[in-house]
Amino acid sequence: MNNKPIAVGDLVMVVRGHDCIVRKLGGVPMHVERISQSACGGLRCSLCGSSKVYPQTTCANFEGKKCFLPLAWLIRIEPPAVSQQTESTKELMNVR
Ligand SMILES: [Zn+2]
Repeated sequence: MNNKPIAVGDLVMVVRGHDCIVRKLGGVPMHVERISQSACGGLRCSLCGSSKVYPQTTCANFEGKKCFLPLAWLIRIEPPAVSQQTESTKELMNVR
């Protein structure tokens, strides 16, 4: 298994956390744009208005989205293996 921490540029999705956010963003692939140590502590949920839905922890900020989410709520989506991409490219070249 790959246990590297989530980093900038990784493709991730929400799998746990505050209910509203899981319902809205759960399973949606997002690219991590920035990692922030403490900016998310005590932020308010924009959907239900409940405050302090985020623990004070390391958070990720996403490309094209104005939200910070704790890394603990996310899992990384592994990109397709490079060898598979190479094989399909070869097949395409053989056809021509
Ligand atoms: Zn909420």
